[in-house]
Amino acid sequence: MSENKYDLCIVGGGPAGMTLAAFAARVGLSCVVIDARASAHSEFRGESIAPDAVWVLRHLGILDAIAPFETLEVTGLRLSDAGKQVLSINFGDFSYPETKPAEMPQHLLLAGLEALVAEGSNCLVCRNMRAVQLLRSQDGSVTGVLASGQDGYKEKFYARLTVGADGRHSTVRKLSAIQYRELPLERDFLWFKMTYPDAWKADPLFYRVSLKGNQQAVAIPTVPNLVRVGINIPKGSLKEMRSNDITALHDVIGSLIPTLLPVAREEITSWADTRVLNIFTTYVKTWHIPGLILIGDAAHTLSPILGQGISHAICDAALLALLIKDDIGQDSETVQQILANFQKEREHSIERARRLQLRQEALFKANGLFSALGRRLLYRGMNASGKAKRKIWGDLYYAEQREGLIKEYIEIKRHAMSAELPLSAEE
Ligand SMILES: Cc1cc2nc3c(=O)[nH]c(=O)nc-3n(C[C@H](O)[C@H](O)[C@H](O)COP(=O)(O)OP(=O)(O)OC[C@H]3O[C@@H](n4cnc5c(N)ncnc54)[C@H](O)[C@@H]3O)c2cc1C
Repeated sequence: MSENKYDLCIVGGGPAGMTLAAFAARVGLSCVVIDARASAHSEFRGESIAPDAVWVLRHLGILDAIAPFETLEVTGLRLSDAGKQVLSINFGDFSYPETKPAEMPQHLLLAGLEALVAEGSNCLVCRNMRAVQLLRSQDGSVTGVLASGQDGYKEKFYARLTVGADGRHSTVRKLSAIQYRELPLERDFLWFKMTYPDAWKADPLFYRVSLKGNQQAVAIPTVPNLVRVGINIPKGSLKEMRSNDITALHDVIGSLIPTLLPVAREEITSWADTRVLNIFTTYVKTWHIPGLILIGDAAHTLSPILGQGISHAICDAALLALLIKDDIGQDSETVQQILANFQKEREHSIERARRLQLRQEALFKANGLFSALGRRLLYRGMNASGKAKRKIWGDLYYAEQREGLIKEYIEIKRHAMSAELPLSAEE
C-alpha cells in the first residue's frame, strides 16, 4: 500500500471535483482526484451550464482552455401549456456579463478540466479508485481517505483538506456521519437523445418546455445536432411504463411536443434508448467537519429544473478554491471558519434556487381544471412583467454575477490574481 500527501484530496471527478482540481492546479495547490469511474464518458448526465457557471469558467480562463470542444449557446426559453405558448424568455435581454447558458456534453467538460489538472505540478486524477474509508488524526479530524482500486489494490491519500465531491449518493457524506435529509419529489424524469428536428432549424436555439395537465416535457438542444429530451413520469412508475410497448412513449411525446414525433418514432425504438433520473433534493445542515467539506450534489442535490446541478457544482468549486488558496496551511480553526463562510455564501444561492425549483415542481403537478387555469394565468402574468422575469431569472441564472463573493473575487482581486489565473480579454 502506498501513501501520499496533498493540499486537497478530492473524492469524485464530476463537475464539482474536476473544476476544483483545475482551479487548484492553476493556483499552485497540490491535489489528487479519486474517481470510481474508469472514464468520464457517460451519455446521460447533466449538460446544461447556467450563465453564472459559464461566467465563472470563462473569467477564470477555464472555458477558453476547453474551447476546442463544441459548445452551444442557448438564446432563450419558450414554455407552452396545453399547446399554447404562455411564457417566452430571451436571455439576451438581461444585462449581465454572461447571459446565455451553454450546452456541452458533460464528458467534454470533464475532459477539458482534466487537461488543466494535468498541467498542475503534483496534481493528478486516479481513476477506478473508490474512497472506502476516511483517515483521521487522534483528535478525530479527517486527514484523507483510504481508496480501493482493482484487484484488491489499496492506497491512502493524505491531505490538508478532504473534499467530498462524490455526487448525489455521496459515500464521503455517509462515512463522515454528516447529517442529511433526502426529500423525494413526486416524479422522476425519463431522458433520451435524438436528432435535432429539421422543423426547428430555422429558429434560434432555445429550451422548449411543454406542459399538459400534470405531464411535462423539456427539449434541450445539444451537440452534435441533437436534442436532449426529458419527460416526467410518476415516481417509481418506470417498471410499469417499460412493460408497455415503446409506442406508449411516442404517444406522450406526440401529445406534448408533436414536432418531435417523427424523429422519436425513427430513433427511440426501445426503452434501452432511455435513462431514468430519480428526482429528489437533499438537505445537508452542515457541509463540513474538521478536515473535510462536501461540495456539489454531495452537499445539495437539486431537481433538474433549469439546469442548476452542474452550475452550482462549478460555483461551489470556484469559490472554495478562491477562499482556501492562500489559507489552506493555516491552523484548523481558521480553516474551519473559512469552510463555514464558504457554506454560508453558497447556501444562500442554493436555497434560493431550490425554493424556485420546488415552486415550479408544484406548478407542474397542477392537473385539475382550475389549478391548470391558475398556472396558465401565472405564467402569462410573469410573461407580461419584465420585473418578475428579472427577479426570477436573476435568482436562478445570474445571482453570482449580481452579488456575492465570487463576483467580489473576480472584480476586486482580478489584478492581483491575473498572474496566476488568466482572465478573459475584456478584463
Ligand atoms: C441522467 C441525469 C440527467 C441529469 N440532467 C441534468 C440537467 O439537465 N441539468 C443539470 O444541471 N443537472 C442534471 N443532472 C445532475 C447533474 O449531472 C449533477 O448535478 C452534477 O453532475 C453534479 O456534479 P457533482 O460533481 O457534484 O457530482 P457527480 O457529477 O455525480 O460526480 C460525482 C463523481 O463521484 C464519483 N464517485 C462516487 N462515489 C465515489 C467514491 N466512493 N469514490 C470515488 N469516486 C466516487 C462518481 O464516479 C462521479 O464521477 C443530471 C443527472 C443525471 C444522472
